[in-house]
Amino acid sequence: MASEIRTIGVVGAGQMGAGIAHVAALAGFDVKLYDIAEDRVASGLQRIDKSMGRQLASEKISEADKAGALARIAGTTNVADLGDRDLVIEAATEDETVKRKIYREVCPHLKPSAMLATNTSSISITRLASATDRPERFMGIHFMNPVPVMKLVELVRGIATEEETFEAAKVFVGALDKAITVSEDFPAFIVNRILLPMINEAIYTLYEGVGSVTSIDTAMKLGANHPMGPLQLADFIGLDTCLSIMQVLHDGLADSKYRPCPLLVKYVEAGWLGRKSGRGFYDYRGEEPVPTR
Ligand code: NAD
Repeated sequence: MASEIRTIGVVGAGQMGAGIAHVAALAGFDVKLYDIAEDRVASGLQRIDKSMGRQLASEKISEADKAGALARIAGTTNVADLGDRDLVIEAATEDETVKRKIYREVCPHLKPSAMLATNTSSISITRLASATDRPERFMGIHFMNPVPVMKLVELVRGIATEEETFEAAKVFVGALDKAITVSEDFPAFIVNRILLPMINEAIYTLYEGVGSVTSIDTAMKLGANHPMGPLQLADFIGLDTCLSIMQVLHDGLADSKYRPCPLLVKYVEAGWLGRKSGRGFYDYRGEEPVPTR
C-alpha cells in the first residue's frame, strides 16, 4: 500500500492544512486542498505561496521547485473531489463534532483502499476512527506548526489501525523528509501532553498577576532558553486550539491539574484567538506585536 500513496487530499485550508499541502506538494505529491468556503481555500493557497516565497528567499528551494509544487496543488470546495485520493489528511478545526461531520461527508466518496488520517492535536484516534467507515485504515498523523519548518511528525495508531496503514504513514512522512515519534493513543499524545500544561501554567501566572506578558515571555526565553515565550507560542498555536487541547486533557485524564485557565477561556470567548484573529496575548494589528496585559 505504501508505494501506492501518490495523491493526497487535505481537509481544512487553515494554518496546518495549508502547511501539510505545502510540504506534500514540494515532495512531489499531487495535492487537493479542501475547505468549506472559497475564501478559506484562497487564503490557504495564498499562505502556501507566501511561505514558499520565504523558502525561496532563503534559498531552501528554487524557483522551479516552487512553481512545480504550486502546480501540484488544486483548491476545492467540493468534497467529492477527494474521491480519487490515496490518502486524505483531515486538518480542520479542533472540535470533535466538526471532525465527525467531515468523516460522514468525506468517507462515502473515498476509494475502498484510501487511507484517512487526522492531524488532531489531542482527540482520541480510536474514537475518531469509530466515526469513519475504515478504522483499520485510519490513524493520527500529527504535524507540528509551522509544518514547513518543524521536523517532527507524531504518529498515533488507534486500537483498530492495521500495521499496513502505520507502515504506509511512515513511508509517507519519510518522503516529506520529516522525523517521526510514535505515541500511544492517550489525550494530547506526547508533545501537547507536555507543552500545553506549560502554556496553561504561563496563562495562570499572568492571571494571578505574578508577571506581565512581557515578563513571562522574557523569563522563559532567556531563563529556559525557549525560542518563543509561552504566551507568544499560545498566540501562534491559536488560543481556541490551546483551550480545546486543555479541555481534552481535563476531560480525558480527569485531573484538576489540567483545568483550563479562566483567562484563556475569556480570551477565546472574546474572539481573541491569537495571531490568526489579529489579537491574543499580543495585539498584532500594528507594526509590532503589543502585549495586551
Ligand atoms: P485553523 O483554524 O487555522 O484552520 C481550520 C480550518 O478548518 C479552517 O480553514 C476551517 O474553515 C476548516 N474547517 C472547519 N470546518 C470544516 C469542514 N466542515 N470542512 C472542511 N473544512 C473545515 O486551525 P489549525 O491551526 O490549522 O488546526 C487544524 C487542526 O490541526 C486541528 O485539529 C489542530 O488541533 C491541529 N493542529 C494544530 C496545530 C497548531 O499549532 N495550530 C499544530 C498541530 C496540529
